[in-house]
Amino acid sequence: MKLYLATTNLHKIEELNEMLREAKIDAEVHTPLAVGGMPEVIEDQDTFSGNALKKARALAAFLPDDGLALADDSGICIDAFYGAPGVYSARYAGEGASDQDNLDKLIREMEPVPEGSRGGRFTCYLAVVSPHGEENVFEGEILGEILRHSRGSAGFGYDPVFLPSGRNRTTAEMSSSEKAAISHRGKAMRQFLDWFSKTYLKAN
Ligand code: IMP
Repeated sequence: MKLYLATTNLHKIEELNEMLREAKIDAEVHTPLAVGGMPEVIEDQDTFSGNALKKARALAAFLPDDGLALADDSGICIDAFYGAPGVYSARYAGEGASDQDNLDKLIREMEPVPEGSRGGRFTCYLAVVSPHGEENVFEGEILGEILRHSRGSAGFGYDPVFLPSGRNRTTAEMSSSEKAAISHRGKAMRQFLDWFSKTYLKAN
């Protein structure tokens, strides 16, 4: 069975590879480039799971019979903003905004928010569509607080200002394996790996 992750984000591929290695699961992870690229999908659903499923279904249609389509949709939900930007995290600073633009906007918008009210969470929904059309969605989240200034250069997106609860380093100050051990995506991926092992690796 080959795994295809519907993303062009190499950090996400690396995080999944890291977890496969740790779980000692001998499976190949491919980007959609291996099947000619990711079909264009408009992420217009108003839930993370809706967008993740939409991407996984679109990719599944292009895969060989031994290909499992995976797609995640993730984002940051800020308590003081009643869960925004949520599903709009990737275009928080506007259509086509860079990670840096989005991060700068979050830092700016959070300026008036006092200490003690700066909570937030990263959320991840991972949709899986198997060759015979079975669909599953796995979920993970990590709670933390939003710092006033960036710290660290690892990871991506909002990592430099995200301080996980009970930690003294941001997710941008962690190695990818350290982050994956506690992250929203790590949690969703581990649930997937558990299901995957039971479903496809029974014979091993
Ligand atoms: P998408 O799931 O690739 O659409 O990403 C949604 C948005 O959430 C992007 O802007 C990311 O920067 C942000 N995001 C999702 N996961 C993470 C993470 O692990 N660290 C930092 N930012 C994240």
